[in-house]
Amino acid sequence: MKTIVFTSQEYMLCSSFEMVEDHCNTECNYVNLLDSRSVMGDLGWVAYPKNGWEEIGEVDEDYAPIHTYQVCRVMEQNQNNWLHTNWILTEGAQRVYIELKFTLRDCNSLPGGVGTCKETFNMYYYETDGGELEDGDMGDGEGITEEEDRALKESQYIKIDTIAADESFTELDLGDRVMKLNTEVRDLGPLTRKGFFLAFQDLGACIALVSVRVFYKRCPFLVKSLAEFSDTIPASEASQLVEVVGRCINNSLPLYEPPRMHCSTEGEWLVPIGKCVCQPGFEEILGSCQGPPSAPRNAISNVNETSVFLEWSVPMESGGRKDIRYNVLCRQVLPDGRGLEECGPNVRFLPRQVGLSNTSVMVADLQSHTNYSFLLEAINGVSELAKDRTKQYVSLNVTTNQAAPSPVSVVRKGHAGKSSIALSWAEPDRPNGIILEYEIKYFEKEQDSSYTIIKSRETEMVVESLKPSSVYIFQVRARTSAGYGTFSRRFEFQTSPYLTATSERAQASIVAVAITLALVLLAVVAGFLLSGRRCGYSKAKQDPEEEKMHFHNGHIKFPGVRTYVDPLTYEDPNQAVHEFAQEIDVSFISIERIIGAGEFGEVCSGPLRLPGKREMQVAIKTLKAGYTEHQRRDFLWEASIMGQFNHPNIIRLEGVVTKSKPVMIITEYMENGSLDTFLKKNDGQFTVIQLVGMLRGIASGMRYLSDMGYVHRDLAARNILVNSNLVCKVSDFGLSRVLEDDPEAAYTTRGGKIPIRWTAPEAIAYRKFTSASDVWSYGIVMWEVMSYGERPYWEMSNQDVIKAVEESYRLPGPMDCPEALYHLMMDCWQRERSNRPKFDEIVCLLDKLIRNPCSLKNLVNSSHRVSNLLVEHTSVDGDCNIWSRTVSEWLDSIKMGRYTELFMEGGYASLDTIALMTSEDLRRVGVNLAGHQKKIITSIQEMRVLMNNSTTSVNI
Ligand code: AMP
Repeated sequence: MKTIVFTSQEYMLCSSFEMVEDHCNTECNYVNLLDSRSVMGDLGWVAYPKNGWEEIGEVDEDYAPIHTYQVCRVMEQNQNNWLHTNWILTEGAQRVYIELKFTLRDCNSLPGGVGTCKETFNMYYYETDGGELEDGDMGDGEGITEEEDRALKESQYIKIDTIAADESFTELDLGDRVMKLNTEVRDLGPLTRKGFFLAFQDLGACIALVSVRVFYKRCPFLVKSLAEFSDTIPASEASQLVEVVGRCINNSLPLYEPPRMHCSTEGEWLVPIGKCVCQPGFEEILGSCQGPPSAPRNAISNVNETSVFLEWSVPMESGGRKDIRYNVLCRQVLPDGRGLEECGPNVRFLPRQVGLSNTSVMVADLQSHTNYSFLLEAINGVSELAKDRTKQYVSLNVTTNQAAPSPVSVVRKGHAGKSSIALSWAEPDRPNGIILEYEIKYFEKEQDSSYTIIKSRETEMVVESLKPSSVYIFQVRARTSAGYGTFSRRFEFQTSPYLTATSERAQASIVAVAITLALVLLAVVAGFLLSGRRCGYSKAKQDPEEEKMHFHNGHIKFPGVRTYVDPLTYEDPNQAVHEFAQEIDVSFISIERIIGAGEFGEVCSGPLRLPGKREMQVAIKTLKAGYTEHQRRDFLWEASIMGQFNHPNIIRLEGVVTKSKPVMIITEYMENGSLDTFLKKNDGQFTVIQLVGMLRGIASGMRYLSDMGYVHRDLAARNILVNSNLVCKVSDFGLSRVLEDDPEAAYTTRGGKIPIRWTAPEAIAYRKFTSASDVWSYGIVMWEVMSYGERPYWEMSNQDVIKAVEESYRLPGPMDCPEALYHLMMDCWQRERSNRPKFDEIVCLLDKLIRNPCSLKNLVNSSHRVSNLLVEHTSVDGDCNIWSRTVSEWLDSIKMGRYTELFMEGGYASLDTIALMTSEDLRRVGVNLAGHQKKIITSIQEMRVLMNNSTTSVNI
């Protein structure tokens, strides 16, 4: 109930009265065609005559305007006042209802007892298909009088009823300010045209028409028995029912026959017949058939390194519910078709893994280079009902990319010297692959415009050449095949202060010794250089394994390149094997004899007959039965490395047998087996040239490996194989990984011990394995070769060896070893690894020695005796007397052959005598051209160097 406030008007000075408001929504069983109270602007009704009905603008209690039409010409005779509505559309309704709300004045309460006063009014209608009366607009008729026109219009209307007030009001009521509102409803029908007009005729009453509402009744949209019945307009006659066939709602079917309902003229649904039932798999819940949703659609993935963004569309079928959620199941695809494994707890799902309301998820922290299978499942509140849940999910296969390693989290300081700081760190939490190396960036605090980067394969490093008492900033980052991770945060460490007074004295003496040594060394090096030695090696060069890159203001000065691929960079070791090794069918191999025992099983030999290829003898390494997967991987590891090399001094891999058992590694056959046993068996049987030839081969193989960026770590005569032509080849590539993998294993080789005797001190002390440490080992191999397989340091214990080497003790020259070779060994055993020669320098020097055998004639422990090892068995003087035989060859080689006769005539018939010639001697012989003199003198000087090389004594 609401109170409406009227403004004042003659006789109608009411200020308030009560009336009922109707509110209705779509479920109402009536539809308004006109409601004068809801029309905001001009109603547009026409009053006739103009001084009859009058529109009075009122406001309701909310000050919303309402339209009222009032007439109160009770004082005058013969009233006939018409009020015409607009054209009202029927919307197809055949019967409409008109609800009038009005107030009416009690005639008796009027002053003077007015005889003409009425207490009723009439309501008319007129049907048309258009919005006009068929004879034109009211009052606009031409050629006829107003009276005639009026009569015409009125004659066209059909009377609906005379409306009387149930309640009329008196002056007393007005005084009480209470208005009595009448509500009268009339119906109209059957209507046959599209619309109609209404008209209200006043014959002399005092009326206020407060509202006019025209509506029709309908049977509203209804869902009953799982069937939908649409809005239905009833028939016009009360006795008629309209039959409506229902439509089964989603996920339901008609039971026996389509359901039906009947719509009455009152807008009520009556007499339901038949019904719908839920389809199989769906359940009737709250009047609807509900089931699990279908699978998500259009699933796509977007991989970003080790994160995957999954996106999908909503399922085709919602299951009749609005509560769809999504779950993500993450499974890793195991290699070799070994199936799927659920992703571990480290994988992150953003925003979450289950109960997702959005159609996307981010899956992060997956493994790099890995195949994953994701199941995207749509679920709702009744998913549990589903018998077959596979219909609810879709699978998506994704391969992650490689990703750089996560940052190193902590860098720790170990021992800090005045010029060095030992650092160590842990592997990054997420390496995302195999860590190939670490970069250590450092600079003096507050001097960060210039910094240094050094590299390490280990998780520790001693940073040297620092200033005493200085604070340095260190940052470490890891590198995998995917590239560098980001640097760790900055760590500040300080070097120790300068030494105290006493230690300064000690330091001074150390410096003096160092200077003396340096001067001696300088003299030696200068001697080498001045004498024109072309194979001199620079000891100042950087170690390839510890490439130091200096940056100044971000500018790289010294980058390095690597070509060897660490099989560890492959997640799947089998992939590495098959990348580098050819699979051989076992039927092409015949095992004939057992030739040795390897770490993983017997080593055999026999012919390999590959189709279309010449038969060849091969060595066959077998993996003994009952191996673990780990052992199989380690066994094949060697093949993955060997297969990458192609060099005459590296054992050649022919292929692998992995598809049948036993698993085998097939290499070229080396008739003379391992070098250490071969030398022991043939003690004293070779010329120095033959021995140097073997050493040259080993050095050449090692040069190749170091150029490839491969560090052997276990170079020893036992790991060199010798073929029937005495060609030596480097083999055994298995150990390096064991050393690298397990810090403990650094002290236990397959022989039970780290190869201490062959290993450089820095590699023993802090596992600094580099090509420079391989050079150290090479020096030991030289010693083994020149002593025919003697054990380095004989029966000394490992501990004693470590101590002795630490105290600068070095192996003595083997019996009858040319001094030139012993010098080279000693150089290989330089404590400072950057002072050791490089393999290319070693090869170069050995080549020179081979070309000039007399340079080998001075022996370390029998200095004035010509080595009988130099001598071929057939001729004692032959080799070393090459000088006398080659004067003409020598002159030819320097394009001075024209002087041969003059030299002979001058008594210079051997190179021994020529080596002593001066420029004066040359002129005397008859070499007058200055250019020729210079050329010959230079060559003579070179000759002298070669002859004197082995007599140079170096005390280091
Ligand atoms: P390994 O496992 O490489 O140490 O091999 C064990 C032993 O088998 C070696 O010491 C050699 O005597 C022998 N052997 C290995 N490979 C070959 C080969 N390619 N040719 C000849 N003998 C070999």
